[in-house]
Amino acid sequence: MVGFLKGLILTLRTALRRPVTAQYPEPEKRQPVQDRFMGFPALTWDYEVVEPYCTGCMVCIRECPTQCMSAEMTDNPKAAEGTSSRRKIIETFEINLGRCILCGICVDVCNFDAIEMSHEHELSKYERNGNRADLDRLLELGREYQDKVSWKPTQPEKNSGVPKPGAKRPAAAKPAVADAEGKPSSEMTKEERLAAARARAAAKKRAQASDDAVAEDPPVAKGDMSPEDRVAAARARAAAKKQAQAADDAVAEAPPDAPAKAKSDMSPEERVAAARARAAVKKQAQASGDVAAEAPPVAKGDMTPEDRVAAARARAAAKKQASSEFDAKAEENTREGVTD
Ligand code: SF4
Ligand code: SF4
Repeated sequence: MVGFLKGLILTLRTALRRPVTAQYPEPEKRQPVQDRFMGFPALTWDYEVVEPYCTGCMVCIRECPTQCMSAEMTDNPKAAEGTSSRRKIIETFEINLGRCILCGICVDVCNFDAIEMSHEHELSKYERNGNRADLDRLLELGREYQDKVSWKPTQPEKNSGVPKPGAKRPAAAKPAVADAEGKPSSEMTKEERLAAARARAAAKKRAQASDDAVAEDPPVAKGDMSPEDRVAAARARAAAKKQAQAADDAVAEAPPDAPAKAKSDMSPEERVAAARARAAVKKQAQASGDVAAEAPPVAKGDMTPEDRVAAARARAAAKKQASSEFDAKAEENTREGVTD
């Protein structure tokens, strides 16, 4: 009886107690999260200078293990006006929160107090890519977080955007990039910046091509050469020497020539082999002739390093062919000895 009453009291007490669970997803009934809670990353806002702390240095983007971040940096117009000490500022920033694993690495590596793990964790969407948060959304999340926890930068001296008195004004007035019309990059649209970057790349390529053409020109006197030209010439000479040495070695290893056999004494197989050897010799001679025709003989002292390499290669090819011709003849003679 006593046990029954105890159980009944416990049941009544539990039934009348305030619930310890929260009704989801009604926002006003949710449990508050702790300050240390790590939700989605958000960008912080510098209220003193009225701009983001983020300078677009890309360190967090490089370190993010899921590669879910992207950003673009631009010149800070406020630096040119002298109202901010940040010479560069973020122009676009995007985090695909659907891929973020909330690891906090981006916060740890940021040296500018520009990103924090906010308390936001309720961003369910129906679209697969619906959680791509752009710069405005990230700054909005950041401002909410800053207001909620009374956020302060960890390095206020270093990361404050307020220009220091007496500090040299940054030379941000000089445009970093300008298009054909001289428009500064900060005023360009994304497409214009892309076109300007492509034009710069094409100009660089053209300059490189003209440098290559100059490098292929006939050599100048050694005393007039630059150190790079001397190195290139020395390498070409070494390659030519190595090639000639390899050809000499091949000839030295070849056995002495053997007497040729009369055609009437050959077996059908030997005749076929001999015909093949002659065709190969002819082909090689033709190839050597072509090389020689393409490179008219000049005095060695007048040759460019490239000409010397080509001539050495032609000589080596001719030697190799002579060696294979010798091998074919030696094989015929060997066969003759066996059949006799
Ligand atoms: S919390 Fe981790 S996964 Fe998410 S954006 Fe930062 S570094 Fe990337
Ligand atoms: S959030 Fe920090 S690390 Fe990332 S780009 Fe901005 S300043 Fe650099």
